[in-house]
Amino acid sequence: MAYRTYDVILAGGGIMGCATAYYLVRTDPTLRVAIVEKDPTYARASTPLCDGNIRVQFNVKENILMSLYGLEVLARFSEEMVVGGEKPEVAFHRQGNIFLVNEEGRQTAQEGLSLQKALGCQVEWFSPDQFMRRYPLLNLTSCAGGTLGYQDGTMDPFAVLMGYKRKAVELGANFIHAEVGKLSQDRRQITGVKLTSGDVLNSNFVVNTAGAWAASLADPLGIALPVRPTKRQVFVLETRARMDGLLPAIIFPSGLYLIHERAGRFTCGKSLPDDLVSYDDFEWDRERFSQILWPELVEYVPDFDRLKVARGWAGLYEVNMLDGNAILGEWPELKGFFLANGFSGHGFQQCHAVGRYLSELILHRPISLDLSIFSPNRILENRPVYEGKHKLV
Ligand SMILES: Cc1cc2nc3c(=O)[nH]c(=O)nc-3n(C[C@H](O)[C@H](O)[C@H](O)COP(=O)(O)OP(=O)(O)OC[C@H]3O[C@@H](n4cnc5c(N)ncnc54)[C@H](O)[C@@H]3O)c2cc1C
Repeated sequence: MAYRTYDVILAGGGIMGCATAYYLVRTDPTLRVAIVEKDPTYARASTPLCDGNIRVQFNVKENILMSLYGLEVLARFSEEMVVGGEKPEVAFHRQGNIFLVNEEGRQTAQEGLSLQKALGCQVEWFSPDQFMRRYPLLNLTSCAGGTLGYQDGTMDPFAVLMGYKRKAVELGANFIHAEVGKLSQDRRQITGVKLTSGDVLNSNFVVNTAGAWAASLADPLGIALPVRPTKRQVFVLETRARMDGLLPAIIFPSGLYLIHERAGRFTCGKSLPDDLVSYDDFEWDRERFSQILWPELVEYVPDFDRLKVARGWAGLYEVNMLDGNAILGEWPELKGFFLANGFSGHGFQQCHAVGRYLSELILHRPISLDLSIFSPNRILENRPVYEGKHKLV
């Protein structure tokens, strides 16, 4: 059994673990930082299985500000993450996002729009007719309207993950292929992690960056995180649609979404109430698209009455059952135990702001963007921070 000591341990090496490690070692290159990842192929990690979308269209100010910071970072990402002369190419397509609403959603959308505009975001309200004139493929007669965010877009999430990982390692972080078996504590102080190999890593700072697996790490310490691993399926469609350039990504009022990849190729998905809560089910089901998503999609895009489901995949959302928002910061009852969990399907775009924020908290640096609204205290105090009216994403 080996013992090693680190200044900070990231338990989980997905986008949250790697971005946080990067900000830590960038701030202080003398830090001994360990990123512990059980599967460096990331076969089941949420980051590479996600849609890679970023949007400024939120209703909570801090979520908007996190995305604005993310956009700033993305503009210089390939320069900043250069390693050995190699610049990561994240293929960021700024095609925009359209969020459509029905009458019921109009007020929340317009409140969000006012806030987004007040924060300097480029978002506009469109009536259904205005949208249909601009995008003749769409039939939006049943919608009340919607917003188009021009800064939003979609990129390759694996390339962003690799960018952070390689740069963090170049700057001195240690990437360790191992599974955290359990977290260790001495009274009310975290003291490190025990790996399933039997090795022990000591540290007074451990960050739970285990994504959908976050609750299973915290549970043995008596910390009940309201984070559920929830299966989400994505379908890749080949259609007859042909147009110049890319359509914006479209989110219909029910949450059904459609992302234009290239030529006639789209990805499509929808969170459904009966999506399984499980760590182990990564099967995708063609019938789920045909029977549930397709009829709804054809109403909005009549041309999609004929299409081919080319393939699909399933990944896990890390749903925060309290309010569908991130849980960020130190757990109030265990010193040195930090959380970056519960992103509920919008964590990929927040990794930049989260990594910076956690590094500032841990290193006691001035806070660039105050994210204390997402503090773990709210879990203990049952104080949800909702995006819309009691809306879980
Ligand atoms: C289908 C789908 C679409 C999505 N689309 C978007 C989107 O468009 N935009 C967006 O912003 N977000 C999106 N998300 C959400 C996004 O993927 C997540 O919020 C984000 O990737 C979370 O990053 P993470 O590092 O916390 O988790 P992960 O990427 O899952 O990383 C956690 C890592 O921890 C490791 N791990 C777990 N337990 C242990 C242990 N005991 N020991 C060692 N390692 C461990 C895992 O192997 C994993 O690699 C989507 C998610 C899904 C599933």
